[in-house]
Amino acid sequence: MSARADVIVLGAGIVGVSVALHLQKRDRDVVLIDRQGAGEETSYGNAGLIQREAVIPYTFPRELSVILSYAMNHRRDAVYHLSALPRIAPWLFRYWQNATPERVERSARALAPLMAQCVDEHEALITEAGGTAQSLVHRRGWLNCCRTEKSLRKAIEQAHLLDKYGVDYAVLTGAQLRQLEPHVSEAIVGAIHFRGSPTSSDPGMLTKAYADLFTHKGGRFLKGDARRLAALPSGWSVVSEKGSIEAREAVVALGPWSDLVFEKLGYALPFAVKRGYHLHLAARGNAGSGRAGAAAGARAVPAGRAGRRQTLERRAAMPARHAACDRQGAASCRAVVRFRPSAPRPDAWPGDRPPAGGDDDRRDAVRRPGPFRGRALWLSIFAD
Ligand SMILES: Cc1cc2nc3c(=O)[nH]c(=O)nc-3n(C[C@H](O)[C@H](O)[C@H](O)COP(=O)(O)OP(=O)(O)OC[C@H]3O[C@@H](n4cnc5c(N)ncnc54)[C@H](O)[C@@H]3O)c2cc1C
Repeated sequence: MSARADVIVLGAGIVGVSVALHLQKRDRDVVLIDRQGAGEETSYGNAGLIQREAVIPYTFPRELSVILSYAMNHRRDAVYHLSALPRIAPWLFRYWQNATPERVERSARALAPLMAQCVDEHEALITEAGGTAQSLVHRRGWLNCCRTEKSLRKAIEQAHLLDKYGVDYAVLTGAQLRQLEPHVSEAIVGAIHFRGSPTSSDPGMLTKAYADLFTHKGGRFLKGDARRLAALPSGWSVVSEKGSIEAREAVVALGPWSDLVFEKLGYALPFAVKRGYHLHLAARGNAGSGRAGAAAGARAVPAGRAGRRQTLERRAAMPARHAACDRQGAASCRAVVRFRPSAPRPDAWPGDRPPAGGDDDRRDAVRRPGPFRGRALWLSIFAD
């Protein structure tokens, strides 16, 4: 005998948990399904920025010299595996197609109302979730640190593009930056301080706090394998630890694993998976007590449970999910070194690196090549 619900939400990352909470608010009887606890995958391994400023998506470069540097794998912010090229080429082509100024502008206009609400949406959930959630979120903005005058000028130019979207930021000289964060290295010549973007010291725990709110309010959160989602004449069913669940509607919020379900159902969604890395660094002095910061494509967040986390966010290593190096990648920053000869430089806030091994990890995220059209809707809170 199957249990019934109004909606099955597959995946208890930040997207699935938020969807479940909002459906619950609209009086739906929701069952949330995951193969493990809430927020233990991508929603754990990210930089924890609630990116109010992220209105303009990362786009495929249009300048030949920059494209060539990516093609040669000479970039810090993205790398690819040559063996993956045949598979990702069509996706890259669409990504490139969608990088015209008009299409980027269209994407930004579509994203703007979502990003304008992201902080208020989190604040509402944090208030409802209470103590733990409150302690995990810091409202001091994050810093985009620049090492050269040239990169600072570019960052200022990019920040100005956000003026029309109401993004709150300040341009800081090196001296102003060090007044705010005394431990920032002299190598940093200036920064953009995105004042209106809060950060979480532990995004995985924040997701768990939201999931607890969902169950506290009567939602059911069960273990199960989303790949066992099956279509019924009346809706959907999935097998959980407590037996079969049937519902009229289903939401797929499986992050980088969503295609495993969509493919079976005959959807070919234009998404690819990127991989990021993070490692844990010990903080020096009061470094880490303040704002999150980024320098040279790497992001660091204020110290969480295990010291400062350095997130190398935009390493679009592909293939990601199935790559054999997944487990090797868990050994300190060696995975990073393997892809690029230079080690990450977390000296925006100097800290001592712990010995290799142990507490670092990698997580995958999804990236889409351009505006999504069609009847199916796939939610990603990081809409790049
Ligand atoms: C390195 C890095 C840094 C990032 N930094 C930021 C940032 O600063 N700010 C920001 O907004 N975004 C950031 N992102 C993106 C952000 O982390 C993701 O967009 C977000 O976490 C995606 O959440 P999700 O719920 O879609 O996916 P996930 O958190 O991955 O959730 C998917 C869930 O599906 C479950 N699942 C998978 N397969 C099955 C199955 N077969 N059966 C049942 N359950 C299954 C998993 O266990 C998981 O809980 C970053 C991403 C990366 C990789």
